[in-house]
Amino acid sequence: MAIQLIWYKRDLRVSDHLPLTCAATSGPCIALYVYEPELIEADDSDAAHLDFVNQSIAELRSNLRRLGSDLFIRAGQMPDVLEGIHDKFDIAKIWAHEETFNNISYQRDQRVRAWAKAKHIPIVELPQFGVVRRLTDRNGWAAKWNQRMTQPLTDPPSRIESPESIADCDRGNIRNADQFKVNSFKRTNIQTGGESKAIEYLDSFLNSRGANYRGEMSSPVTADVSCSRLSSYIAYGNISMRTIHHRTNSRIKEIKELKKQGTPLDSTWLQSLSSFKSRLSWHCHFMQKMEDEPSIEFQNMNRAYDGLREDQFNDEYFDAWCQGQTGYPLVDACMRALHQTGWINFRMRAMLVSFASYHLWLHWRKPATYLARLFLDYEPGIHYSQIQMQSGVTGINTVRIYSPIKQVADQDPQGIFIRKYVPELADIPDKHLAEPHQMNAMEQTFYGCKIGVDYPKPIVDHLTQYKMARDRIHQIKKAPQTRAESNKVYLKHGSRKTPMSKR
Ligand SMILES: Cc1cc2nc3c(=O)[nH]c(=O)nc-3n(C[C@H](O)[C@H](O)[C@H](O)COP(=O)(O)OP(=O)(O)OC[C@H]3O[C@@H](n4cnc5c(N)ncnc54)[C@H](O)[C@@H]3O)c2cc1C
Repeated sequence: MAIQLIWYKRDLRVSDHLPLTCAATSGPCIALYVYEPELIEADDSDAAHLDFVNQSIAELRSNLRRLGSDLFIRAGQMPDVLEGIHDKFDIAKIWAHEETFNNISYQRDQRVRAWAKAKHIPIVELPQFGVVRRLTDRNGWAAKWNQRMTQPLTDPPSRIESPESIADCDRGNIRNADQFKVNSFKRTNIQTGGESKAIEYLDSFLNSRGANYRGEMSSPVTADVSCSRLSSYIAYGNISMRTIHHRTNSRIKEIKELKKQGTPLDSTWLQSLSSFKSRLSWHCHFMQKMEDEPSIEFQNMNRAYDGLREDQFNDEYFDAWCQGQTGYPLVDACMRALHQTGWINFRMRAMLVSFASYHLWLHWRKPATYLARLFLDYEPGIHYSQIQMQSGVTGINTVRIYSPIKQVADQDPQGIFIRKYVPELADIPDKHLAEPHQMNAMEQTFYGCKIGVDYPKPIVDHLTQYKMARDRIHQIKKAPQTRAESNKVYLKHGSRKTPMSKR
């Protein structure tokens, strides 16, 4: 008897998984995960991503076993792997979630579709986010997102039937990073994957950690606890966006009820959860840009900015930025934190990119690939849209050049975060932390940090670079051809909450 194939990609869960539940009600099933070397060994991939996947599929496999099924694990090029499964089991239908990832996965999906068509095997791809496939008009997108998020959750099947021929078949094993030619940064403190971990993070955020989310999300001192830390779980599909949305709404309802009853609660809860809900929709808003225009992985969203930085890439600056050796303590602390933990909060990501793009005048493409490897939650749709926005090449967003000095005063005035990740500066007084090179020779000796020896001199003068970058970017932004191009970008990608005239 032919089988229903559930093709797992970045949706590694059993809960609220419509393809799984639909397949299970249609006949005997095989659930499949494929290690694809072309994705794993690509420039934007890292061993930490693979570890997270492995932790996720270990739990997925045991959950599927509990439902009477198993997870088949294979490695190879698609659709060759499918051909092997089809030879053995005769695939009646393929069930999967729609995926908006990178150009490699896009090309892979095209090959799989062509193969399935030739074999007369239908593929059913169901949405897993608020991203709308073949969207023709950005107007009304937010209402569509809301409609999807408020749909009821899908229960996992109570039992999954397996084909009889499965008995003598090798299910395949989890494969570690050393079995691939994959890039690897050494991490010391990184989140682990899996459906149960995702629920733990969500519960602790909604019930305790999230109370001061709105006020504490921007400082790297507080953000690692006060932010949800769900991004990697969302990126690998350990939890559905709809589940997060539903649970957040229930918690908001509960808080309102408790307030009515006079229960003492942090007054900031409702504002915090309202900010959190907005960000859930931003996730899909940004991914929609990649879905509608996959070329933003490689090209400026606004082509009027082409040529702005391409010819001036300074490799020494880039290396210093990558290694956390720019001589600007907060920039360096962020980069070094990322090396260890694979995560940093939004404001610090924006500052890192702003520093690379404006102060170092680096084209966004190489920094983007480097950060893709470092971010455990790498999600190309958000990543490339944000990188382009923070480097000022969309034409539809306010240009924000973050001062690496002011950010210290605003976000880490006591140097708690800086001292943790830049231990060379541990004994320096707060007043010198933003610009330790301003210490005189005696102070450097006294505080045990010789600039240029223990900690680098600033690789650029931030004020000179700021002025140069501001002038260049504003000059191009106001040019008539840029404005015309920006209007097109807005029509295709712009958030309808902020009209073009206000940008
Ligand atoms: C240059 C740059 C690159 C980024 N690259 C990524 C990336 O590859 N993957 C990624 O998930 N996020 C990315 N972000 C967005 C944001 O920084 C992270 O989503 C957030 O820091 C993750 O932590 P959290 O889960 O605790 O977020 P929370 O603040 O708790 O937010 C909850 C969820 O909302 C979504 N979200 C939050 N902020 C944003 C935002 N500004 N844009 C879009 N979605 C958002 C994420 O899914 C996040 O998990 C990037 C931001 C910048 C400035």
